[in-house]
Amino acid sequence: MTARIIDGKAIAKKLRAEYAERIVALKAKHGVVPGIAVILVGDNPASEVYVRNKISACRETGIHSELVRLPADAPEAEVLARIDALNADPAVHGILVQLPLPPHIDVPKVLERIDVSKDVDGFHLYNVGALVVGNTVFPPCTPFGVQKLLEHENVPIEGRNVVVVGASNIVGKPMALMLMKQEATVCICHKKTRNLGMFTRLADILVVAAGVPGLISADMVKEGVVVIDVGINRLPDGRLVGDVDFEDVRHKASLITPVPGGVGPMTITMLLHNTLGSAERSVAAKV
Ligand code: NAP
Repeated sequence: MTARIIDGKAIAKKLRAEYAERIVALKAKHGVVPGIAVILVGDNPASEVYVRNKISACRETGIHSELVRLPADAPEAEVLARIDALNADPAVHGILVQLPLPPHIDVPKVLERIDVSKDVDGFHLYNVGALVVGNTVFPPCTPFGVQKLLEHENVPIEGRNVVVVGASNIVGKPMALMLMKQEATVCICHKKTRNLGMFTRLADILVVAAGVPGLISADMVKEGVVVIDVGINRLPDGRLVGDVDFEDVRHKASLITPVPGGVGPMTITMLLHNTLGSAERSVAAKV
């Protein structure tokens, strides 16, 4: 068997076109343009790239974006004051604080300052709790992107065995919760998991988000598995690869995401989704 490759770039493009139409309709009907504010503290080069990509995706889709740039030594109080101002601004429907923050800033304190109705990353404890009970309006963007890919490919979830490799707060844990809500049987593996292959071989759907290149080889999966590779790793020769040995595993899987071009394009697309949803809810709340 050779897997069909899930084209995350094409799916993201299609979804972005749908969102652009909804944005035009929202403006025409209610005079509201969805707006996002991104707070960037310091000059971490990776963060600069992520923020640039987010802002350009917003621009292309018709979402108004505002970049709040603060120096690396900005006091925590200033970051909090900026969030307070954005919380009060009706033109801002989404607030995102780019992580990581400089070490003198208390990340949970900053994330919890964001108004829960503008928390487009879904990292506020309130929204994490809403995810746990199964009714969040801001699913975290990367696992939400995976969910949309599976939905687009009509992959049945209910009753399937799902193994998630990686248990971070931003990918693995929310991913597991989302798939549990869809009534999959979910197993989460992490660094301390003994005999990882024993678990991954049980998977009908395998989601890998560990940040370890080549972690999953063909002998660790069963024939026909659906493989979603969230990992992004830069090799010493400059190549970008996931956590799955793509060439090896694709001959056994039924569906597989490539890196790049799989999950990556979906993450920012879900940020657009969450911002648009927030703007639409703000209009509905006034009607
Ligand atoms: P993270 O916070 O470092 O978490 C990694 C998780 O993987 C941890 O739970 C860790 O276990 C587990 N892990 C590490 N080595 C392992 C191993 N050998 N076997 C099994 N589990 C192992 O990373 P993250 O933020 O979740 O990101 C994971 C990967 O996804 C990274 O490559 C990142 O670049 C990528 N990513 C991609 C996107 C995208 O848009 N495509 C978005 C976010 C992240 P412990 O909990 O025991 O430490």
